[in-house]
Amino acid sequence: MQVAVIGAGLSGLLVSHELKKLGLSPVVFEKEPEIPSKTLIIPLFDEVKALAKELSTEIPPLKEQRRCIYKGGRLLSFRASVFSLLTSGIFSLSELFSILKEPFIKPIKDDESVANFVKRRFDSKILESFVEPLILELCLGDVESLSLKFAVRRVYEIEKTSSSVVKGVLGGNLKLPELGFSKDGGLIKSLLRGLSVKFENVVLRVRKKDGEFILEAKDGKHKFSSVVVCTPAWASAYMLRDLSWSACEVLESVFYAPFVLVRATLKLGIPCHSVLFPSSSGFRIKRISVSDFEDGVIYLGGAKEGEILDLSDNEIITLLKSELLRIFGANEIKILAIERYKRAIPQFNLGYDKVLEIVSALESENPGLFIGSRFVFGPSILDSIAGAKEIAKRVFAYLNK
Ligand SMILES: Cc1cc2nc3c(=O)[nH]c(=O)nc-3n(C[C@H](O)[C@H](O)[C@H](O)COP(=O)(O)OP(=O)(O)OC[C@H]3O[C@@H](n4cnc5c(N)ncnc54)[C@H](O)[C@@H]3O)c2cc1C
Repeated sequence: MQVAVIGAGLSGLLVSHELKKLGLSPVVFEKEPEIPSKTLIIPLFDEVKALAKELSTEIPPLKEQRRCIYKGGRLLSFRASVFSLLTSGIFSLSELFSILKEPFIKPIKDDESVANFVKRRFDSKILESFVEPLILELCLGDVESLSLKFAVRRVYEIEKTSSSVVKGVLGGNLKLPELGFSKDGGLIKSLLRGLSVKFENVVLRVRKKDGEFILEAKDGKHKFSSVVVCTPAWASAYMLRDLSWSACEVLESVFYAPFVLVRATLKLGIPCHSVLFPSSSGFRIKRISVSDFEDGVIYLGGAKEGEILDLSDNEIITLLKSELLRIFGANEIKILAIERYKRAIPQFNLGYDKVLEIVSALESENPGLFIGSRFVFGPSILDSIAGAKEIAKRVFAYLNK
């Protein structure tokens, strides 16, 4: 057989879709018995709209495009436009002044933390009240540890090309996209259409023999000329241990932010899709998502607060009720489910070059092996779409060399 894709998450399905477009017939191995048909919230970049069109699936915009940020005991809302943001009350006069000064700050060449970048170009207040909450929405990350270059690469590139974030925003090269939603796994189901997926078939090990790859899966051994690994870094490390132990140690060390997700009926009556809570608010709730199609989703924890996973359900409910009362003056909530995610979202922290170098070396030492998961592509779906296209082309070139 020609090509196997391991993992039927969004990355694996995007890679398989691109391989199919090139005339290949990938065999997909998935550990779980099915893909959960959850509703995904997706930024509506042009590339995402094009993908939806290609798959004849709908990713309609959320009815409410406003976000709210908690600041000084108030909830301040804004749409994804410069005017709305500047008039939202999020920025104080001194913060607005630091925005005006930003185009005159000289760019630097090196990578740095997201926190350093914002403090260098703006000030620490903008970091606290605006950038940190947006980072919580993106990846529940720690701004002091995240690498600007890898975690928010479009901002990093804007400093290199326009020499200023403000100039990039005003020139239309950097914007917060509108958000859309793919209901009940619609996007995933369309990607699955026509694919050959072996569900409930975990891959335990990938070995190499006589120039071919042997996959040891639950249903037995399979031979492939090429393999694309689309699983999280720690799962990839376990599977690829026979190919390079030292590379797998680096993959195993990629940090994934943990969080607790509470699904609840929650009628806030606030005109926004997300309420975001900076660390300075002192709340352990990081984000409340209140979109029109589901009851409410509350996120607690994140990169800096892994110990949230140790709380019992009762402790979480008590904590939630107390924080909701302090925030909204009311705490009527009906909990539907409490879900714990130990290693949920990859963190593109400082020094991430080393992980990408190791991935590249692993691929060059094992021709025909490709790693195509979100921890390699980047944090946004835009990165996954671009990464999947590129990997599919490389697989095609390898098989036709
Ligand atoms: C609760 C939650 C909500 C989220 N909501 C959103 C959202 O609204 N919008 C959004 O863009 N992103 C969301 N994400 C992120 C998103 O689900 C994925 O993390 C992201 O799409 C990365 O996908 P991936 O394919 O690289 O990895 P994953 O989604 O982790 O997929 C990897 C797949 O590989 C399988 N697998 C692992 N090991 C093996 C093995 N040994 N053999 C075979 N199969 C294996 C897994 O079962 C899984 O299906 C959410 C994540 C979580 C945890």
